[in-house]
This record gives sequence, structure tokens and C-alpha cells, in this order.
Amino acid sequence: MNILISAGPTREAIDPVRFLTNRSSGKMGYAIAEAAVNAGHHVTLVSGPVTLESPPGLSEFVPVESAAQMAEAVKSRFNGMGLTIMCAAVADYRPAVCHSSKLKKSEGNLILELERTEDILKTLGSRKQPNQILVGFAAETDQMRSHAMEKLKQKNLDWIVANQVGVADRGFASDNNAATLFGRDGTVLELPLMSKSELAHHILSAVVPVR
Ligand code: C5P
Repeated sequence: MNILISAGPTREAIDPVRFLTNRSSGKMGYAIAEAAVNAGHHVTLVSGPVTLESPPGLSEFVPVESAAQMAEAVKSRFNGMGLTIMCAAVADYRPAVCHSSKLKKSEGNLILELERTEDILKTLGSRKQPNQILVGFAAETDQMRSHAMEKLKQKNLDWIVANQVGVADRGFASDNNAATLFGRDGTVLELPLMSKSELAHHILSAVVPVR
């Protein structure tokens, strides 16, 4: 199967030396990419800036920085994919203006205006064909179930992997994670705390259709 995976954070430039980003390490997405390669799939990994080695055996590795670059890379490859998993922590906002030279400090506060980035997953959901499976992630701090289900519907997903962030032993940057998978058909799969590589196998076996 042709599988497209996005991973890592994005960087949204303020000026040539500064950017806005988040705490995503890319570990979950890279673990899923590795598991998918090991299961014999053709895997394309689109990755924001991370410190990880790209897994051997990928069909294509596409490094990107900004949400706009990630959108371009993912959307242009989406049509040929049987399964797409958006694991990346894409910035929701970017500076409305990217200054071409370094911003100088002055007395008083600086107000940055932020504008929305494209919701890549939502765009993919609106383009999805019946033979394509689309999986999203939902990092939630509260009301995980209801927020995840809402996203699944709004973004026209087949599966959403919900995990709790803000808990010490899991989530961002950790080697371990726990998750709940919600399927469009009402399936709920609880995956307790385990290594991201074990979790990756469980997620893949749940979302790859049995032929
Ligand atoms: O709505 P929320 O950002 O919580 O949804 C998370 C899911 O949406 C993740 O799968 C993430 O990769 C994707 N996403 C996206 N584009 C954005 C924001 C999130 O594709 N701008």
C-alpha cells in the first residue's frame, strides 16, 4: 500500500532568525513510518524539523519547515495514497508578516499579529476518495473523547488517534505514549501506555484494511 505520513512540528518565521514552533519531537510519526516500512508498504514521510534519523527503506523523505510547505508537500502527493496519517503538529497560526531583516528591539512591548494556517487535514478530508483512508491525531488536554469525535466528523476522517498531552510520562518528546483510537464506524480501541514503536504497530494494524 502507498502510505503518506506527516511528522514533527512546523516552524513559522517571524524574521530571518526567529520562528514560532511547538514541542513535537516527531517520534510518533517516525515510529509509524518505520512500522509501515517493516510491514512492506511504500512509505512517504513528510517531516518538519526534528533531530531524528529518517527510517531506512522509505520510498520518499520530504523535509519541510513551515505549515505552508507541509501543505504543499502533502497535498501534491495525496492522490496516489491508499492511507494517509497526519501525525505532524502543524502550527495553527503563523506571523501575518515575515520580516525580511532581523527585528530590532525597542522600548516597550512588541505585538505580533498571527494569521491562521491552512488546516491540511481538513483539506485532505474534503478531497478524500472512497478508496482512501485518512487518519488524524488529536492531542488534547481535556474532554479527549468529545473533542476527538468532533474532529473526526469535521475533518471527514476514518480514524482519529487521541492522546492526552500535558501528562509527564507520555506524549510530546517522550518515548512512550498511550492513545485511544476512534473509528468512523464507532470502533473504540484503548491502547494503554507503551513505547511509541509498539503503539505504532497497533495503530497501523487497526487502520490498514485487511484484504
Ligand atoms: O484540530 P487539531 O489541530 O487539533 O487537529 C489535529 C490534526 O490535524 C492532526 O492530525 C494534525 O496533523 C492536523 N492538522 C493539520 N493542519 C493544521 C492543524 C492540524 O493537518 N493546520
